[in-house]
Amino acid sequence: MTSFSIHGVGVSSGIAIGQAHLISNALLEVVHYQLPMHLIDDEIKRFSDAIATVKYDLEKINSSLRKNAPAELSAFIGTHLMMLSDKSLSEAPKKIIQNEKCNAEWAIKLQMDEIVEQFEQIEDNYLRERKQDVIQVVERVIKVLLGHPSQLATEQQLSALSEEHKLILVAHDISPADAIQFKQHEFAAFITDVGGITSHTAILARSLNIPSIVALQKARDLIRDGEIIIVDGKQGVVIINPDKNILTEYKLRQEQWELEQQKLQRIKSTKAVTLDGINIDLFANIEVPDDVTAVKAAGATGIGLYRTEFLFMNRREMPDEEEQFIAYKKVAEAMKGDVVIIRTLDLGADKQMNPDTVVTCANPALGLRAIRYCLSEPQIFHTQLRALLRASHFGNIKILVPMLSTLSELRQTKLLLERAKLSLRKQGVLFNENIALGGMIEIPAAAINAEAFASELDFLSIGTNDLIQYTLAIDRTDDAVAHLYNPLHPSVLKLISMTIKAGEKLGKSVSVCGEMAGDAKLTKLLIGMGLRQLSMHPSHILSVKQQILHSQMSALSANSRKILNLTDIEKIEPLVAKLNRTADLRLNPRP
Ligand code: PEP
Ligand code: MG
Repeated sequence: MTSFSIHGVGVSSGIAIGQAHLISNALLEVVHYQLPMHLIDDEIKRFSDAIATVKYDLEKINSSLRKNAPAELSAFIGTHLMMLSDKSLSEAPKKIIQNEKCNAEWAIKLQMDEIVEQFEQIEDNYLRERKQDVIQVVERVIKVLLGHPSQLATEQQLSALSEEHKLILVAHDISPADAIQFKQHEFAAFITDVGGITSHTAILARSLNIPSIVALQKARDLIRDGEIIIVDGKQGVVIINPDKNILTEYKLRQEQWELEQQKLQRIKSTKAVTLDGINIDLFANIEVPDDVTAVKAAGATGIGLYRTEFLFMNRREMPDEEEQFIAYKKVAEAMKGDVVIIRTLDLGADKQMNPDTVVTCANPALGLRAIRYCLSEPQIFHTQLRALLRASHFGNIKILVPMLSTLSELRQTKLLLERAKLSLRKQGVLFNENIALGGMIEIPAAAINAEAFASELDFLSIGTNDLIQYTLAIDRTDDAVAHLYNPLHPSVLKLISMTIKAGEKLGKSVSVCGEMAGDAKLTKLLIGMGLRQLSMHPSHILSVKQQILHSQMSALSANSRKILNLTDIEKIEPLVAKLNRTADLRLNPRP
């Protein structure tokens, strides 16, 4: 058996090893046949019975939910029950059976196609994705019509499985109702062919804390029932038929990961303070409003980066002011007065609005992206600024501008912000007049000139992902040069240090919101360099906090200064490793 791997989008971290349990895709099994007149009534009854069975099943699942089950679960089942009761699903197919004299499966599938088409016209990204719910409900009905046994493994099957041979669900898509049952049977993970970051499958995976990967595209075709697979939810990788060595390696990683997670939970509500009493703000990065649940679960004390461009992606029309306002307000209110730093649109390069309308240019990362794009489209920017200002009345919102390279971009931004404020004032709309404006330092030109930016801004946030890309001239999306991407390059560290010093000099806060902030191996170095605010994916908060709790700032500062004076990565790397082992040893680089 050959071992191979496939890649998707990891939506929930963790490692699972188990046997593949393939879930059939009932929709693909639907055939069309004609019925003689005298069987039509029976067929309609068969259809009604199937709807009733599914309703009964869903209600049963709903009432069996454990008390401490995430609130979303019950809400999802509720949505499916509501859809089932809607005439367009429960009645319209009967008419189709009658008029077309066709089988019930075909009738409900025809009706589903029509509803899905209507959903596809909806502009709102979130609502559009809800078409998946319609498909999932219909699939359930079809399974009953086709007489499929429950998709779940039987109790005997499950109890026959040893600990390390738990089942991993492999599906085209998984409905929330299925997922709940899967959870109750303690499946190890689930992976799907479809799904985006706002799909219910992804939302559920995060709230259930099961390793999960979506958008694998061909998992169901490539994986066979019963095969041993490894799911690495963090990396978004599935390894099929791993050999002995890989299996041993992943078992070890899994044990370590699980042990660490258990231990980390203990510090969830502990303040992130060093041994010598220095407080560090640990904020979270989010992409969609629903991510706030994970932010809270991780014990983050604010949102340091809300990447608003996800609201603009995979659609033909821009979200209007109201849609944006609702999203920003939702996050601000959910954070109940804690800081919410919302970044203005960072479209361009690898983040295009609509894949069909990608504007090709020779060097997209160096092109019209982020603030450059917004300044070239003042109306789009104006709409976003108004939405942000309006939402600022409902929470502690700060605005962050990406990709600044010149002061003139900053000044134009300020003018546009004033214009947006003026328009709201004229309409008597409330907003925070003193809303803080920060800038991302992610282009070397901005880091070198950080003092000038700090003097005209309220705060700075270092985007190390781009800062490294532009400093080292490495396209962050290009695998061929990925090995050159190194946050410990002395030039990168120097630019970060210059930015921190600029902030200190002018009394402006400086944070890091790139991936570096969430890498626990770099925490001691970063705080030693003077950073007091780090913003990262919620799943990294606890491991970073743990580093902080074991840090002695006085020692870290001195040792970080030594590291900053080095010019050779090969000397820097071992010293950073040493810094992590203990905070107060005397670091002497090898000559
Ligand atoms: C960064 O560049 O470090 C950053 C946080 O922004 P993004 O990853 O969205 O470009
Ligand atoms: Mg960036």
